[in-house]
Amino acid sequence: MNAAILDRMQVVEGDITAESVDAIVNAANETLLGGGGVDGAIHRAAGPGLREECAQLGGCLPGQAKVTGAYDLPARWVVHTVGPVFEGLKPDDADRLLGASYVNALRAAAEAGARSVAFPAISTGAYGFPQDRAARVAILSVARALETDDRIEAVRFVCFSPEAARLHRAAIEALRQLS
Ligand code: ADP
Repeated sequence: MNAAILDRMQVVEGDITAESVDAIVNAANETLLGGGGVDGAIHRAAGPGLREECAQLGGCLPGQAKVTGAYDLPARWVVHTVGPVFEGLKPDDADRLLGASYVNALRAAAEAGARSVAFPAISTGAYGFPQDRAARVAILSVARALETDDRIEAVRFVCFSPEAARLHRAAIEALRQLS
């Protein structure tokens, strides 16, 4: 992997609702009507306008993404994607759907006009994806998407624990070794 691509990817530990990038990604559920985890945090911080806009969208399928405004959040847009529920899927299928969530969220953000995007660790909470596996899929699918799309200048992985941050950094370093 080209080092210049990896240099457009950054890992931080923190709360994604505080990120002042162009677009933050929400790990939503299929209803898009709000839920627990990062979804609940984003809806609480954005205010009721976000739920009203989401209610017009008719839900979202796993692996797909839809864009709304960001209301009271510092970002300009929220990109809602639905990751896969790990249990019950073949691991390869789960990987493909998780990768699709990252790639489609990135494309939707770019089409809205975003240059910088922040991601949470999609599917690693209630949806039960093993954290290390999810981090490798996240980093590889974003790196590949950035290779062919120069609209997005910077992607930030906002990790909610030191362990999640370590796993994302390790996945980036593993790709750097291949460059
Ligand atoms: P999913 O249903 O896709 O698994 P969750 O919200 O349950 O989504 O969890 C996804 C990840 O988001 C988890 O690793 C969780 O620790 C993390 N998370 C929860 N709240 C926040 C937040 N405010 N900012 C960033 N990450 C968060």
